[in-house]
Amino acid sequence: MTIVFFMDGVKYDMMKKYMPFLASLNSKPLQSEFGYSCACHATMYTSRYIEEHGTWFIWKKGEKSPYKWINYIPGLKYINFLPLKLLLGKVTRKLSKNTSYSGVPCLVNLPLKYWPLFETTEDVIWNDDKYKPEIPNMFSILKKEKVQHKIVALHSGTQPDDAWNEEGIVDYKNDKFVYFFIGYTDNIMHAYGENANESKEYFTKVDSFIKETYKKAKKDNEDVTILAFSDHGHINIEEPKIDINKYFIQEGKKVNNYIHLIESNFARFWFRNEQEKIEVTKILNKLQNEQLGFILDKEYQKKYHLNMNKEEHGEIVFYLEAPHEFTKTIWGFGKTVKSGHGFEPILPKHYGIFCCNKKLAQDVEFAYLTDVLPSIMVQLGISREGYILRGKNIINTDNAD
Ligand SMILES: [Zn+2]
Repeated sequence: MTIVFFMDGVKYDMMKKYMPFLASLNSKPLQSEFGYSCACHATMYTSRYIEEHGTWFIWKKGEKSPYKWINYIPGLKYINFLPLKLLLGKVTRKLSKNTSYSGVPCLVNLPLKYWPLFETTEDVIWNDDKYKPEIPNMFSILKKEKVQHKIVALHSGTQPDDAWNEEGIVDYKNDKFVYFFIGYTDNIMHAYGENANESKEYFTKVDSFIKETYKKAKKDNEDVTILAFSDHGHINIEEPKIDINKYFIQEGKKVNNYIHLIESNFARFWFRNEQEKIEVTKILNKLQNEQLGFILDKEYQKKYHLNMNKEEHGEIVFYLEAPHEFTKTIWGFGKTVKSGHGFEPILPKHYGIFCCNKKLAQDVEFAYLTDVLPSIMVQLGISREGYILRGKNIINTDNAD
């Protein structure tokens, strides 16, 4: 029996300190994707790179915006009153058929006139048959290979106790594979950060749950493989929060005059003409000169497999370096956010985890999200022949230790 526990945003050094059961297993630090959780999920379920599966951010520019209707009410898109925006977001979310983990979020600080330009990258939850039907993924492979399995607590609106409350559906005698989704670890990190007791205690609670589940599975099965992994680490945010508009004002411009999306630590721009591109590049170069971050150039696109369609994902993408985040983003003002992710995967504080009770390959320093699916497939005895997988199995390999 193979039991996989996914925990969003559990960082390697916190696992070592506050998750004694996982720390007692074999483990590798995991290098994440250069993007947020939705990009990580697409990679770990498909074992394909971001540029192949196409999910980088929650939003991309496109024709299928859930906010298109705003265009049909005369004058509405020129009103920029926050309570109205929040209400429009709420109404749209209610009417939307989007079942993805993030759903249709409100674009809080983005002027309403740009809302109808953006669509969600994903419309359904990851284990839906309609999720990227052209690429085989963990869920579709389980079905195709007829593996008796259970998916536990994978739904939006994640709550602290979901995994243990929903664990009852597991049939330890007959299921060959179980996938536990624990999303709340990321929520608690955003809200409290790595030094808070709330985060430490919750991590320890999750660790005990994994240990108990393992014990339970062992009663009915001689051979149990436990794989516990996360998608990325977390970095405590430090002041000051960066208001990108300040840099525009210094040049006599306003960020809201350009088509853009400001996410936590990324700023993406689309241009209506060459002049706009020159103006924005000049301003972003200023941030770069102050060593606040950098524009993702060809070198970064190659290194992190981010050769994306620019019209959809941004003609210029600026990365704000850790430990800073922007204020006045599409998510809000970020006043209460203690910790963030989506930073460069090579930063040690941003390492996720890959823990297993079986031996792990000796010749690799890191696990990657692309390794998750190939490793699971080997445990289930599924051949990778016929599947294009970018990662490799790292569990119980010939040189494992
Ligand atoms: Zn995540």
